[in-house]
Amino acid sequence: MTDDPQYRRILLKVSGEGLMTGAEALDREKLYRLANEIKNVRQMGVELCLVVGGGNFFRGAQGALKGFDRVTGDYIGMLATVMNALALAEILEENGVSSRIFTALAIEGVGEVFNRKRALTALKKGAVVIFAAGTGSPFFTTDTCAALRASEMKCDAFFKSTQVDGIYDKDPRKFSDAKRYEHLTYAEALAKKLAVMDLTAMSLAETNHLPVVVFKQEEGILTEVLCGRGTFTVMDDLQ
Ligand code: UDP
Repeated sequence: MTDDPQYRRILLKVSGEGLMTGAEALDREKLYRLANEIKNVRQMGVELCLVVGGGNFFRGAQGALKGFDRVTGDYIGMLATVMNALALAEILEENGVSSRIFTALAIEGVGEVFNRKRALTALKKGAVVIFAAGTGSPFFTTDTCAALRASEMKCDAFFKSTQVDGIYDKDPRKFSDAKRYEHLTYAEALAKKLAVMDLTAMSLAETNHLPVVVFKQEEGILTEVLCGRGTFTVMDDLQ
């Protein structure tokens, strides 16, 4: 444990659900708290890429259950991530944090089409780089987008914030005897069929030796976890 961040460049994935309260898809209080957290991370000198989900508005797979065409639903979901990115960029600016939105789909006037070189330059200049519209392709998730962009941007780790404080052997919200792992390998998570993230995201992280840090989306936690303190799980390929 240390007061220094253990990673110099991270990608933070925030789920859409983490931005909502009840029927309110975008809770400004939660956005402010997240923006504040991001500001603290930047003040620690850590470079930050950000991927926001869209589940607070729409998920293609859930839409399909209600009769939407799956592909149409996925595009709606991807556009939802753009709305979240816009909201977050605005609140970041209000907090004095500069950011740039890169979209996987061309949406002129809202963000620039993803270009790795430009994103790296923006990152090095101190901006928080927000990747919106997922991968730009249906049938994927923003976890896959996060693993992909983290690998492309040569991030030291993929920080996945969730509703629980790490990876458990079973759902801790349903089972009081659920056990949290401090550390596990991708192979162990796959063998135990743990619901960490989808298989495409897992496979990208494993192939690119990208450590995945799973922690709870709560104020003050990210900076703690960055310094190796608090409760979280690290998944990587170290035995
Ligand atoms: N999505 C997609 N391709 C991508 C990323 C996202 O089609 O590369 C769609 C998909 O329908 C997904 C929705 O966008 O359900 C919102 O993303 P996600 O479910 O990952 O959001 P989260 O659960 O993290 O809020």
